[in-house]
Amino acid sequence: MKLYLDPGHGGSDPGASSNGLTEKEITLDIALRIRTILESLFDGVEVRLSRTGDTTKSLRQRTDEANAWGADFYLSIHINAGGGTGYEDYIYNGLSDSSRTANYQDTIHAEVVKLNQLSDRGQKKANFHVLRETVMDALLSENGFIDNPQDAALMKQAAWRQNVAHGHANGVAKAFNLPSKVNDSPQTRTPETAPSGPLYKVIAGSFQTRANADNRVAFLRSKGIESFVVTAMINGQTWYRVQAGAFSSRANAETRIAEVKRAGIGDAFSDSDGEANGTVRNTNNHTILGPTLLSVEQMNQYAKSNNPSSPELGNFYKTLGEYYGIRGDVAFAQALHETNYFRYTGDVRSGQNNFAGIGATGGGNRGASFGTPEEGVLAHLQHLYAYATTAPLPTDYDLVDPRFHLVQRGSAPTWTELNGKWAVPGDNYGQSILNLYERMVNSV
Ligand SMILES: [Zn+2]
Repeated sequence: MKLYLDPGHGGSDPGASSNGLTEKEITLDIALRIRTILESLFDGVEVRLSRTGDTTKSLRQRTDEANAWGADFYLSIHINAGGGTGYEDYIYNGLSDSSRTANYQDTIHAEVVKLNQLSDRGQKKANFHVLRETVMDALLSENGFIDNPQDAALMKQAAWRQNVAHGHANGVAKAFNLPSKVNDSPQTRTPETAPSGPLYKVIAGSFQTRANADNRVAFLRSKGIESFVVTAMINGQTWYRVQAGAFSSRANAETRIAEVKRAGIGDAFSDSDGEANGTVRNTNNHTILGPTLLSVEQMNQYAKSNNPSSPELGNFYKTLGEYYGIRGDVAFAQALHETNYFRYTGDVRSGQNNFAGIGATGGGNRGASFGTPEEGVLAHLQHLYAYATTAPLPTDYDLVDPRFHLVQRGSAPTWTELNGKWAVPGDNYGQSILNLYERMVNSV
């Protein structure tokens, strides 16, 4: 499949600019990431870019080039402006909703909005040059508003641009049925001369879903570190572990670990063969669903021992946690982590009753507010429920979490799988919550 990938604008045409950002730079960054992800994760795709640097190229030149090359799909990346917020994409307005292009739009749109953290402005049609003058199917995406402070704050984060790129890559891969690259398992990667001593593998993440592991590999690649996914069976569960090298000397493994940590992956570790299972089991399979083990008093006392003016939320976390089948005590630990023990040293203020930073997406954005502390806890647990399971939300309580429908349902059954989702980049987010929870348990 031949993909013509078109980062909008460039050279003497900067596109829109605001908040210290220029459209042509962001579109190029995202497009280059899309190419890297497609080429590293999928087979059967050939990518050509309209530009790979800050060069001037007319719309006519771009569509002529794609047509002459015989591309199968034209994907144009843009950033919006003009006083809105969110994501939208376009196909040519002469096409019907049942056209093949519209089907591609359905698929790509769905994959992009899973990962881009933007409100969804919908699938649209327009008479744009690149959509009209291309002989192949074509789609143009508008990835947030450069003149909206919240959207712009996201654009400044490499992790966000990577997620947007990954959404587009997943969409193209799904639309065109691109096969995943099959990584060798460690058993089949027998070196020509097997080392005699133990092999120290550098593990840069363990995940319960393949997609999260692939994400990590792509992230590391964006930082210049090669890695691949290996599967491991631990306690009857399949884990996808990202391995960034294997070394016969512990010193060399430590050097690689330091590189991985500098790239932002704080929980990288090395194991020699056979030592891995305990580490993975202890850190990564704490599920969000489960019983609340600590008592109301234990939760409230722990909070007050750190901040005497902490509100007494233990009862809400216990009862609502039990109602949704969520670990209310670990959720309580998450609230302590998010609010800095209810000191609110981040963007959220205490009067908002927003104990989980819902909608506080950075750049000073304060996020959602709730009428009462109970409603705030309810929203927190509903948001966790969205991540933890694909089951429908139980209906005794109204849905108060304003971002429930923005969550990819069931995408994070464990606390550590919230990394990069609830918090971006959030490489140690789940581990921090579990560490705090462990301190709660040890203190009572
Ligand atoms: Zn544009």
